[in-house]
Amino acid sequence: MSTFLNETMVALGTQRSVIRELFEYGKQQAAKIGAENVFDFSIGNPSVPSPAIVNETALEFIANTDPVLLHGYTSAQGDVNVRLTLAESVNKRFHTSYCADNFYMTTGAAGALCCCLNGLCNPGDEVIIFAPYFPEYVVFTQGAHAKPVIVPADTQAFQIDFAAFEKALSPATKAVIVNSPNNPSGAVYSESTIQKLAEILDAKSKEYQHPIFVIADEPYREIVFSGTTVPFLPHYYKNTLVCYSWSKSLSLPGERMGYVLVPDAVDDFSLTYAAIAGAGRSLGYVNAPSLFQRVCAACADVTSDLSIYETNKNLLLDGLRSMGYHVVEPGGTFYMFPRTLEEDDVAFAERAKAKNLLIVPGCGFGCPGHVRISYCVPTERIKKALPFFEELAKEYR
Ligand code: PLP
Repeated sequence: MSTFLNETMVALGTQRSVIRELFEYGKQQAAKIGAENVFDFSIGNPSVPSPAIVNETALEFIANTDPVLLHGYTSAQGDVNVRLTLAESVNKRFHTSYCADNFYMTTGAAGALCCCLNGLCNPGDEVIIFAPYFPEYVVFTQGAHAKPVIVPADTQAFQIDFAAFEKALSPATKAVIVNSPNNPSGAVYSESTIQKLAEILDAKSKEYQHPIFVIADEPYREIVFSGTTVPFLPHYYKNTLVCYSWSKSLSLPGERMGYVLVPDAVDDFSLTYAAIAGAGRSLGYVNAPSLFQRVCAACADVTSDLSIYETNKNLLLDGLRSMGYHVVEPGGTFYMFPRTLEEDDVAFAERAKAKNLLIVPGCGFGCPGHVRISYCVPTERIKKALPFFEELAKEYR
C-alpha cells in the first residue's frame, strides 16, 4: 500500500514483533483457560521487584527537593551530579578514572544505542551484528541510515564465529555491536573471545585507516551466574562505547533510564562525545527523565534480588537436558536458547503453542533452528511447564 507517509515507519508501527504477538496471545489465552494453564515465556520483563531502596529514594527526592529543580530540565547530557556519582561508581568497580563528562544520560539502552549509531554513522556505513541478536538492532541501525551486516551464529558455544566475522568486515564497517551477556542466548563472551575480537579490530582499523567502534550493549551486565565474569570491554579495546541500562538490573524498564559511557581513550574523544550528544539532540532525546536520573545514580551500587534467575536457569536447564534438548548453558541474563527438535523453528514453536508453551522462534533473532525461552517468570511456572516440554519432546521420539 502506498501512502503519503514514510512507509518504513508505517510498517514498523503496524507490525507487532513476534514476541509482542505471542505476549498478546498469552493474555487472551489466559482469559480463556486461566492464567495458571498458560506458560508464557515470551517476553523479557523482569519478574522481581525493584529493591525497596528505589522507591524510598524516589520518595525522598520528591519530599526534599525543590520541585522546580526536580521536575525541571537537566543539562541535555544529564545532571552533572548524577554523572559524577556514576563516574565514581564505575571507577570503583572497574579501576578507571572517568569523570562526569564521560557519561551521556539516555532513555534506556535503546536510547543509548540509537545515540551511538546515529552519532557514528554516515549513510552507507556498515554495522556488524552477531547472531543471535536483539531484533531491534536491525531497526536501530537502519534508522541511523546504516546497513546491518549479520555474522552467522557460532551455534556450538554462542561465542563468535571469527572466520565469518572477518569476512563481514569491510572498509565501510563503522561499528560492531557486542551484546554480552546476550539476549537471546544468555551467553557471556569469554575473555579470550574479547581479546581476539579486539586484536582483529585493531588490525582492521589500521588497515582501513579509520577507527571501528565497538558498541557494547550491556543491559544484562549485572545478571550473571556463579563462576561467570563479564570482561569490561574498554579495558580490551579503546574505541568502545558502553550502553548501559537499569531496565533489568533494577527492574525498571518502564522508567527508561540508561547512559552511554564514552571513555577518554576513544579516538577524537571530544568529537565523539559531541556526535553522541548531537544524535540525542537530533532524535529529540535530550534530557533523560529527571527524577529517575537521580534515583538510578543514588542506587547505582545496588540491584534487584537477581538470584531467582539462576534458580530458574538451573531448573530449566537440567529439566530440558534430561529430556534430550540440546542447550548451551547460559552464563547470565534470563534467556535460554535451546535447539529445536525439528529444523523449522516456527513450526516447533507452533507445536509448543498448542501445549500453551509460549516460546519465540529463533529466526527472529537471526538464528533459526532454536527457540528463545524467557525465564524471568515465577519458578512455579517453570515447574508446571516442564511436563509439557516433555510431552513436546515425546512427539519427536
Ligand atoms: N538491548 C538488549 C539486548 C535488550 O534485550 C533490550 C531490552 O530487552 C534492550 C537493549 C533495550 O533495553 P532498554 O529497556 O534499557 O531500552
